[in-house]
Amino acid sequence: MSAPVIQGWCPGALRPMMSGDGLVVRVRPRGGRLTPEQASGIAELSLRHGNGLIDLSSRANVQLRGVTEDGHGPLIEGLSALGLIDESTEAESRRNIVVTPFWKDGDGVQAVVRSLAAALTRPDAPDTPGKFGYAVDCGAAPVLTAVSADIRIERGPDGGLLVRPDGAATCARATAETATDVALDLARWFLDGGGAPQGRGRMAAHLARGVVLPPAFAEFPAAPTVAVVDPGPGPVAQGVLVAFEFGQMRAETLSVLAETGPLRVTPWRMLLVEGAGAIPAIAGVITDPDSPLLRVVACTGAPGCPQAQVATRPLARALCAALAPGKRLHVSGCAKGCAHPGAAPLTLVGRPGGTVDLIRDGSAADTPSRTGLDPAVLTFHILTEITHAS
Ligand code: SF4
Repeated sequence: MSAPVIQGWCPGALRPMMSGDGLVVRVRPRGGRLTPEQASGIAELSLRHGNGLIDLSSRANVQLRGVTEDGHGPLIEGLSALGLIDESTEAESRRNIVVTPFWKDGDGVQAVVRSLAAALTRPDAPDTPGKFGYAVDCGAAPVLTAVSADIRIERGPDGGLLVRPDGAATCARATAETATDVALDLARWFLDGGGAPQGRGRMAAHLARGVVLPPAFAEFPAAPTVAVVDPGPGPVAQGVLVAFEFGQMRAETLSVLAETGPLRVTPWRMLLVEGAGAIPAIAGVITDPDSPLLRVVACTGAPGCPQAQVATRPLARALCAALAPGKRLHVSGCAKGCAHPGAAPLTLVGRPGGTVDLIRDGSAADTPSRTGLDPAVLTFHILTEITHAS
């Protein structure tokens, strides 16, 4: 089995990644929110400089695909005019923040995000690895516990803020005024303690090596972790959540959605249309929580990703209706598992030669229970047998 290529850095807008269909330009919306002007501007720029396909990422970023090398400069100018570009690649890389989309006016979440973003983009900010990130999850209840992050800002039982190293059962207390400094102190402690040798490393892995947290982070028990299941599309207190096949939409779809209100970008590859009571039927938008397409997760796969061994999305599309209710299938073009880094009940992984392996209750990198399956004969009946037997 060929090992997936580890890039060692995260693509952004200023430092895009070349993929099978052109450059992927990743935009980090400030505060996890796009104004209608920003959303319609992204749609227009995607059509002008890219291939019109827009992805939502598992860290609540927006990715424009198929951008040409000549189009990258003008695209950045356009995104910059929309207020979506940082001053440098370093600032862009460090401003790696996922925000609870369920914030409300006056709950302080956006103030914490603004303060943290400003500090992370200053030249003296801790020089953390590209994948090192923050979760601002201090709404009424934590919802990002299953979303990848290294430093989490949550809310304690008494309403105060907590800064929690990912993977720790203890945390430090903070206030709205101190949370940013406390979080950055923790990031510096991580770096000073050798958490990122060769510029790579994550907080949970660092703690798993048995390092001792600074006293401020070791004394207060973390809030109980709530198992949060990915919410489906539908109405929520803040508006309406809408989904997309494989978290990808056409620019024209985003353009229409932009007319409905501000959009909050979620780490579940959905958009929350702020303040909406209902959404009219829009091509490419999934509003039915029972849609079989929501039972499958698939990465870009072939031909869009050069590392892919199989075309993932046609396979996922063909198999989704066969999945028993409540079953989830992850189809990954290679063992990297970009679309779903964690475990899934069923995972199909592309292998050299174009076959797929089946992994039960594991991630794309885990040991398969069946190997060498031919995608062409993974018919409805075969998958039905697999899913019902599991
Ligand atoms: S998991 Fe999918 S998108 Fe990620 S590198 Fe492999 S084939 Fe490409």
